[in-house]
Amino acid sequence: MISFYPGPSRIYDTVPTYVQDAAKAGIMSINHRSDEFVTISRQTISLLRRKLQIPDTYTILFTSSATECWEIIAQSLSTGTSYHYYNGAFGQKWFEYTHRLRPDAIGIPFDREQQLDPARIIHTGSGALICITQNETSNGTQVVPEILTGIRRNNPGHLVAVDATSSLGGLALDFTSADVWFASVQKCLGMPAGMALLILSPAAVQVARTLNERNHYNSLPFMLDMMDKWQTPYTPNVLSIYLLMRLAKTLPSIIKIQKELQRRKARWEEFIDHSGLEPLIKNKAVRSTTVIPLKGTEAFVQRIKKEARKNGFLLGEGYGDLKGTTFRIANFPAIRNSEIDRLIKFLRSMSA
Ligand SMILES: *Cc1c(COP(=O)(O)O)cnc(C)c1O
Repeated sequence: MISFYPGPSRIYDTVPTYVQDAAKAGIMSINHRSDEFVTISRQTISLLRRKLQIPDTYTILFTSSATECWEIIAQSLSTGTSYHYYNGAFGQKWFEYTHRLRPDAIGIPFDREQQLDPARIIHTGSGALICITQNETSNGTQVVPEILTGIRRNNPGHLVAVDATSSLGGLALDFTSADVWFASVQKCLGMPAGMALLILSPAAVQVARTLNERNHYNSLPFMLDMMDKWQTPYTPNVLSIYLLMRLAKTLPSIIKIQKELQRRKARWEEFIDHSGLEPLIKNKAVRSTTVIPLKGTEAFVQRIKKEARKNGFLLGEGYGDLKGTTFRIANFPAIRNSEIDRLIKFLRSMSA
């Protein structure tokens, strides 16, 4: 079965070998306070920094999931108000998780065909969080870098937080355009589920230090103190960190990965034009690079889903009310060109 599911998704081919290496080298039993762990942790962070072009001034932390990051941000970086701009299921969930912890969180839904306008996202005062899902996995839309840059420029008193779960590892993100970034590893990073990265600007670290919230095992001051020693407050997913280290060593530059994904996106768009399907998102300016949702008649889409499984393809389900008439295809870097060839051939045979 070839997985085109946008998370958990196809892992890089090399990962199983790294798991075997980890077993042979005894990595699965090492102590998380040992020098051995510290070496792996430090190397993982330095490789991620280099390969993903994360600025030296930004702090990288290990967490368990993107969902956990939603909570950490609400706990440790907010005292009340946060503005959540969302157009799909993940952005909405982020808002809901935050709202449970911080009732002053404000949800600002927008249409999935609409491009956010930084000129209309201006919040006066200071100390709030502006929360944006860079790539909305549920409907295949994205907020492009220039817009994030504009939002940050227009809101100097607030922190901008970005969920990049289904784009980190695929897009050359401009980390300086926000203060908080996070992603779990089972999407664009092509790793098994069970870990996430949380990346903080100096301003975000400053806010965490000033608020000094210390009520949770994963309160940011604890995480930051431990990361000074390349460690975590709790026993982390050591295996995952090791796998990420091995993987990061082999990854090409993020610019190269992004170029390849953009090329593949164009290829998908060209194919769709002649497929009997259409892109779910009409507005090209907001179309995701990494998640491609396709739309068709209910009968056609159901037939594709049924036959795809039989032919060894796992497609992403459409979300919510889109389930019947859409499906999603991951455009993640771990997927091979030959696999895309095969899926396109299959889809062509369905529409013929
Ligand atoms: C998958 C996803 C999440 C949730 O990730 P978990 O690792 O399950 O917590 C959050 N945000 C986005 C945009 C996602 O695609």
